Amino acid sequence: MQIQAPKGTFDILPYGAEEKWQLSHLWHYAEKCIRETVAEYGYQEIRTPIYERTELFDRGVGETSDIVTKEMFTFRDRAERSMSLRPEGTSSVMRALIEHRLAKPGSVHKLFYIGPMFRYERPQSGRYRQHHQFGVEAIGVAGPEQDAETIDLLVQVYQRLGLKNLKVHLNSVGDPASRTAFRFALTQYLRPYFSELSADSQVRFEKNPLRILDSKDPKDREILKGAPSLLTHLSDSARSHFEALCHLLDRLEVPYRVDDRIVRGLDYYNKTVFEILSEGLGAQNTIGAGGRFDGLIATFGGSDLPAVGFATGLERVLQALVAQDIAIPPGQSPLVYFIPLGENAKSEALRLATLCRRRHIAAGIELYTQKIQTALQNAVRLEATYAAIIGEDELKTGRLQIKHLASRETHAVQFDEIIPFLHG
Ligand code: ATP
Ligand code: MG
Repeated sequence: MQIQAPKGTFDILPYGAEEKWQLSHLWHYAEKCIRETVAEYGYQEIRTPIYERTELFDRGVGETSDIVTKEMFTFRDRAERSMSLRPEGTSSVMRALIEHRLAKPGSVHKLFYIGPMFRYERPQSGRYRQHHQFGVEAIGVAGPEQDAETIDLLVQVYQRLGLKNLKVHLNSVGDPASRTAFRFALTQYLRPYFSELSADSQVRFEKNPLRILDSKDPKDREILKGAPSLLTHLSDSARSHFEALCHLLDRLEVPYRVDDRIVRGLDYYNKTVFEILSEGLGAQNTIGAGGRFDGLIATFGGSDLPAVGFATGLERVLQALVAQDIAIPPGQSPLVYFIPLGENAKSEALRLATLCRRRHIAAGIELYTQKIQTALQNAVRLEATYAAIIGEDELKTGRLQIKHLASRETHAVQFDEIIPFLHG
């Protein structure tokens, strides 16, 4: 039996991918735009393991969250310790900061990560069991300026990629005092509808009613239409933080809309929460999301440092780019493709290709077929700019015919003139 990639995972290929977003040069393009943007905002990279002790996510993501209750890839290692493939990045970043004694009182960190995340979900368009996230964490700053900078950074990444028609939805989930007040109002409202709620939401009603606001069940969503708003239950300090953030985003000319239905699926948020939606994706149209999580580092045993961050799913971002028909620069391709005809020509072609590569000019060489047509097709498939055929005549005269594949123009070039020609 032929072995296939696990359900909900996919390969990223240089060519031959089933879907365009699975082509590796698109991933390079996205990662390049991300790295350039974060550098401008002063963020530095952190890489953490792709698996961690399971308790880390129980504590960090929250034991009642969907991720921990039903989406984690959990296994026992050979010493019977419970480990989980990371479902998200924030918990690991916080663990690393504490472990390396970087989360000291008064310290500030601006970190980003890019990498695979694992969630046992029902695979569908935009929802996979292995997906990739780019995320940032800004740690140590409590003021709304940091929230504004973080949201602006994510919007800038999307704009640099070329995405159009983005919508930033902004809300505040308040501080613990605001949430206690709101939880009471929400359960009061939902109690009469209890028997009509989805089974999941009935459990949430007991354990963590705020989570019902995040339900995707259509019936739940209908019931929630009349639910009270978080924004009317904010404490004074949470309200002034939210108002200041709105004002800052206005000043930075970042368009957003206030959406009091956003709570986010992870337990650790407080005050600011936001989601960014893109056109052209159907049901899975949230491409990025984040918020403030001031209490989280302390729950891991670190200093009580404030923090704000986001994560964005690269699959959905690339799918949006493809759906919106955004032009993406081609990947690295050979500048010249040498096609030797006959055994004698092979070593000369290899010498010329090597000469080019020593001078950092990308050069391909056809070592397989002797058929000119097939070799030229290979050059075209690799998107080479030039092709150079080397046969008996060329060996005798020491001169090449270099063909520009797009315009079909040819140039006669001496073997030892090839570097200046290609550099020119
Ligand atoms: P959703 O509501 O779509 O399940 P989420 O709230 O679980 O999303 P987050 O935990 O905030 O998502 O993850 C950040 C981003 O990662 C999402 O906005 C999305 O772009 C992406 N993402 C999350 N889960 C998946 C998945 N299973 N497959 C692909 N991308 C995902
Ligand atoms: Mg989810």
